[in-house]
Amino acid sequence: MIGAGAAGSTAAFHLAEAGIKVSLLEKNASTLIKPCGGGMASAVQDWFPFDLKPVVDEVIQKVEFSWCLEDQVIADLQDSTPFWIVRRERLDSFLIEKAINAGAELFRPFEVSSLKKVERYWRITSKDGKELEAKAVVIADGSNSPWPKAFGLGPKAQHHAATTSVRLERRGTLKEGTSRFDFGLVHHGFTWAFPLSGGVNIGVGTFIGNNQSDSQTVLEKVLPSLGFDPKEGEKQESLLRVWNGHHSLHGEGIIAIGDAASLCDPFLAEGLRPALISGCEAALSIKNWLKGDANDLSSYSSAMKRRWGNSMAWGKRIAQVFYRFPKVGYQLGVKRPTAPKRIAQILSGRIGYEEIAQRVIKRFIFQKQ
Ligand SMILES: Cc1cc2nc3c(=O)[nH]c(=O)nc-3n(C[C@H](O)[C@H](O)[C@H](O)COP(=O)(O)OP(=O)(O)OC[C@H]3O[C@@H](n4cnc5c(N)ncnc54)[C@H](O)[C@@H]3O)c2cc1C
Repeated sequence: MIGAGAAGSTAAFHLAEAGIKVSLLEKNASTLIKPCGGGMASAVQDWFPFDLKPVVDEVIQKVEFSWCLEDQVIADLQDSTPFWIVRRERLDSFLIEKAINAGAELFRPFEVSSLKKVERYWRITSKDGKELEAKAVVIADGSNSPWPKAFGLGPKAQHHAATTSVRLERRGTLKEGTSRFDFGLVHHGFTWAFPLSGGVNIGVGTFIGNNQSDSQTVLEKVLPSLGFDPKEGEKQESLLRVWNGHHSLHGEGIIAIGDAASLCDPFLAEGLRPALISGCEAALSIKNWLKGDANDLSSYSSAMKRRWGNSMAWGKRIAQVFYRFPKVGYQLGVKRPTAPKRIAQILSGRIGYEEIAQRVIKRFIFQKQ
């Protein structure tokens, strides 16, 4: 397993649980604060036999949407399954610990610098010359991974969202159980504010054109609206690989998961749920292949298409239209009377973009008749 983030540690846990020998390789000596809002659909609980609540900082009951910090729409999540906020460093450490308890061996720091197939085995070498061999390898080293391109996994043309984010260790004016999205301030994207116990994650994401140049100016407007100094906090910039078409995510004894596999939602940058789903599905597929119950790892690529890709195909279309005409998108997509309920269902992971698109198409057909 290359990378002990959300995706890698999930796959390591499920494989180790199934009795497979797992080496979890992580380049950083300790778990760092990652640029991540930490918003996570509570539906992910279904994929773990242990309770994830210990790492949930806040349960979101209300989502406030705005256009240039005005024209507010509130989605009440109280009736549906909740949306959680986690501190990424805590989630990652928690999942790593579960993987170790299930029998996985953690190697850190272990920065993979070479990956080669030598006869039937994968040879993995670290930057400082350590070597390991494995029958199967899982690529889980995030958005900068060189391996998917090298081994023909995932999209040839990678698409990125540009992000700038900041973690503040005081709460400001954000109310308890409330998160915020603003769509008017950023070109082709949105800003978010997600509460933590005693803190807040704030950020800017751009989905068309990778232009981070005005993020600083945007943050300087958002921070005071939440009770902070415009220059407060240390900003982190990063590029996030987003979903860009259906592609094979497996080869012979190799699988790409999480951001390395370009699974992140191209509309809302939701990457934790696909990281966890892909970790579970990769483990299942590898287990069946190693035990001789399957001839190859193709069940992984087809499961990811069915469980995630089909919805993302619509997410990509929606993003292309919404972020090109965001004002119209806000009026028609967010301010519709039924929109808050639908948004709540998307955030909590209970419906996908495919269902939203089908509803819109049906409405359009009936209106025309
Ligand atoms: C600013 C920002 C905000 C976001 N907010 C949200 C959000 O609110 N909700 C949400 O669902 N998603 C969010 N995302 C997306 C989410 O953070 C990612 O999709 C998620 O981190 C993917 O997990 P991963 O395990 O695939 O990758 P990562 O978390 O990046 O883990 C990869 C791991 O591999 C390690 N690694 C890298 N190279 C090597 C190497 N050569 N050898 C060994 N180890 C290596 C890294 O150190 C790291 O620990 C956000 C992303 C950004 C950038």
